[in-house]
Amino acid sequence: MAHDTPSGTAPKPVAANFLRGIIERDLEAGTWAQRRWGGGPGDGAQHAAGPLDPAKIRTRFPPEPNGYLHVGHAKSICLNFGLARDYGGVCHLRFDDTNPEKEEQEYVDAIVEAVRWLGFDWNVGGTDHLFYASNYFDFMLRAANALIDAGLAYVDEQSAEAMRANRGDFTTPGTNSPFRSRTPAENHARFAEMQSGHMPEGAAVLRAKIDMASPNINLRDPALYRIKHATHHNTGDKWHIYPMYAYAHPIEDALENITHSICTLEFEDQRPWYDWLLERLADMGLLNRPLPKQYEFGRLNLSYVVTSKRKLRELVAEHIVEGWDDPRMPTIFGMRRRGYTPASIRAMADGTGASKTNIWLDYGVLEGCLRNDLEGQAPRAMAVLDPVPLVLENWAEVFGSAGHVEPCQAPAHPQRPELGQRQFGLGAQVWIEKDDFAEVPAKGFFRLFPGNKVRLKYGMVIECTGCEKDAAGQVTQVLARVVPGTKSGTPGSDAVKVKGTITWVGAHDAVPATVNLYDRLFTEAQPDAGGRDFREVLNPNSKQVVQAWLEPGLADAQRENRFQFERHGYFVADRELHAAGAPVFNRITTLKDSWGT
Ligand code: ATP
Ligand code: MG
Repeated sequence: MAHDTPSGTAPKPVAANFLRGIIERDLEAGTWAQRRWGGGPGDGAQHAAGPLDPAKIRTRFPPEPNGYLHVGHAKSICLNFGLARDYGGVCHLRFDDTNPEKEEQEYVDAIVEAVRWLGFDWNVGGTDHLFYASNYFDFMLRAANALIDAGLAYVDEQSAEAMRANRGDFTTPGTNSPFRSRTPAENHARFAEMQSGHMPEGAAVLRAKIDMASPNINLRDPALYRIKHATHHNTGDKWHIYPMYAYAHPIEDALENITHSICTLEFEDQRPWYDWLLERLADMGLLNRPLPKQYEFGRLNLSYVVTSKRKLRELVAEHIVEGWDDPRMPTIFGMRRRGYTPASIRAMADGTGASKTNIWLDYGVLEGCLRNDLEGQAPRAMAVLDPVPLVLENWAEVFGSAGHVEPCQAPAHPQRPELGQRQFGLGAQVWIEKDDFAEVPAKGFFRLFPGNKVRLKYGMVIECTGCEKDAAGQVTQVLARVVPGTKSGTPGSDAVKVKGTITWVGAHDAVPATVNLYDRLFTEAQPDAGGRDFREVLNPNSKQVVQAWLEPGLADAQRENRFQFERHGYFVADRELHAAGAPVFNRITTLKDSWGT
């Protein structure tokens, strides 16, 4: 984990972002300065009894624990935690667990781990700001009863079809429900019946009483509660009614003293309802002002991936990938297993800012962030991914024995001498890349071909003499002779000029390894665009497994250690399958410019 130092905690330039403008204006105006904080989430009275809120702003990341987080969530995490960090605030991790059927502890644990791994913490000043919306069910019920008392909510027992028909549409106003004029007493009685468990699911809902003719359909008496006879992961069998997301979410924000409730654009039409509800509850003394404000920003979409939990679930369920953390998955765990660093994901998120339109980010931007992060820190190593043996025919003649090994060394990192030197040996037989040899060279090919000289990097200059082939014409061995006196780092070693340098590993000390070469999962930049089934554009070559040879020092690699394999790209020791005697590496990304010709 040596490379997971949270370099993102250091201040760095962040892309322009309208939310920063709003927060800075609020701070200057003192909009939130008089808020009080009751030590934890609570109603208006609890907060009023507390001291001034020590947090200058409060944001939250509110995932529904119904799946694994993906790169879009990473964006939201970095945005919310980043704004709180930058403005003396606190960001809450809140599980929006109001839907009993789809939520599981497995997902809660995975989300906690993913947010931590990204480098964020909800423990501020010794207090954990990790909350569960289901802990607010009692308040939500109290608020619903208060709305009934005030004539602002009623129990509707129309059928689901009638309710849908009576809602109207964009051009037609809705029609009042026949149950809309029930008295508060009647509503209380029916609402109690809903809670009792004696009513079947779908038989009734509690609705706000606003305006069935509102041009904003979200204000046409939105549902607050529905009946569900389900066991909840936190509250067990206590409840037979569960709050609707649209009712629960504003209340969750208010109880937690959230100042800036940041969500994605599709919630824009919900904002008038968000404000309506909180204003009414404040009027009734249940909440304090100033109330939280909702702000919407554009979703992040990444090219060549899908970012919908449903579609990701299908990829897993249909075994198109090997699991939620398959290195090709755009889940946070998939990216982690692929080898992406938390800092590279934070850099991608910060670099994309926040705007009022949904954005498609080129996958190459994420790869660029990874290269920027690893270029300066990943130790270098040589690896041969598509090996063919190279035999040095005059080895015994030059060194006195066929078994002689010349010790060689190379810097662990070219710009970081403090990381020391790598040691490996050059012997009579080495592994080289198949495509570093050509029997008949194409124009401009400077590597091995009969009669040409190249340098074995950090080793010696060799001159190619030919090759051996099998019956099918495949090259089975490349033949060459070492040029004495050319060993790297010895005086006069560069007297023999060569145009090409190739990487290699010694046959006597190389470590065999399984290397997974990953490519994009889809062949189209927007796999699910226009309703297309993403299965039609799967890349059949998104995973290629090769048996490679690695420099001997990599025998000590630990899971999640990252390296630059010279000329090949960045690789990580797989966090599940890598073992000392059986190394498994994943290619994170190729190098931007593959060097050599
Ligand atoms: P999905 O559609 O994949 O299920 P979701 O929005 O339903 O995602 P939630 O668990 O409700 O998933 O999301 C938690 C937070 O992450 C929300 O505030 C949501 O707006 C944000 N979020 C989800 N996807 C993206 C995205 N692509 N870009 C930015 N923010 C996102
Ligand atoms: Mg959602």
